[in-house]
Amino acid sequence: MSIMKSKKGLIMGVANERSIAWGIAKALADHGAELAFSYQNEGFKKRLIPLMDSIKATKFYECDVSKDINDTKSIESMFNKILETWHEIDFVVHALAYSDKEELKGKYVNCSRENFLNSLDISAFSFTRTAKSAFPLMSSKGGSLLTLSYLGAERTTPNYNVMGVAKSALEASIKYLAMDLGKNNIRVNGLSAGPVKTLAGAAISGARHVYRYSESVAPLKFNPELNEIGNSALYLISDLSSGVTGNIHHVDGGLHSVAIPKSNDLE
Ligand code: NAD
Repeated sequence: MSIMKSKKGLIMGVANERSIAWGIAKALADHGAELAFSYQNEGFKKRLIPLMDSIKATKFYECDVSKDINDTKSIESMFNKILETWHEIDFVVHALAYSDKEELKGKYVNCSRENFLNSLDISAFSFTRTAKSAFPLMSSKGGSLLTLSYLGAERTTPNYNVMGVAKSALEASIKYLAMDLGKNNIRVNGLSAGPVKTLAGAAISGARHVYRYSESVAPLKFNPELNEIGNSALYLISDLSSGVTGNIHHVDGGLHSVAIPKSNDLE
């Protein structure tokens, strides 16, 4: 209960109870953290409020990360509001991504310019904006920033396409932000999660094949549960990982370590 006692932070990206962000929020709340949440729009708010009630959280902010800096729903406006109430925060969890579903199938070579820019803006650049905005709230005693990635950033996975390119940019951002913010004791890390059945996960064509392949080939022979991702996040956000930054930690049953699966794992 006490690992996160007297720590407070923001969770971005809860769409419903199956969201990775919610798995992380529960692990942090179970260990004593005080949480605020952001939601993309009114539709998501309705699903978020009952979940917040279940852990007695009260602070929420509407934030669409694609909005420009001066918009009232931008990342920057949200952190200004948080600054007015909390003054300081200890951590931010960035668990959001978007790409046009029509381009999460077929060939990457057909990616449109518009969707390329939009996918990288929402799924990668928003983390850099988040880090810049969170900095003034963490500058006196440091903090921890965490984002979510996937194996498709490192190697190709079916239909991940432009999202793989966005996750590669996100993973590089983690390292550059870790270097920039390290002297202020702000740590920046990523969790590369195995496949989870969420709204975002279902948008990728052929998700069932990826899910089944991953559980049969991973050394642990299963895909991660939300609580397992939550517990890994707890480590990276808490002081347990005080010496860790610029790291991409895989919580995928070990799938990332396999180059060529055993033939009977493919049957
Ligand atoms: P999810 O659908 O539950 O959550 C995605 C969230 O992104 C939603 O809350 C949505 O509101 C938010 N979002 C999208 N566009 C936004 C915008 N413009 N402004 C603000 N918020 C926006 O799906 P999830 O799988 O929990 O996704 C969370 C993170 O985990 C994503 O970065 C995803 O790429 C990553 N991830 C998912 C898997 C998986 O298999 N599901 C695996 C590894 C990594």
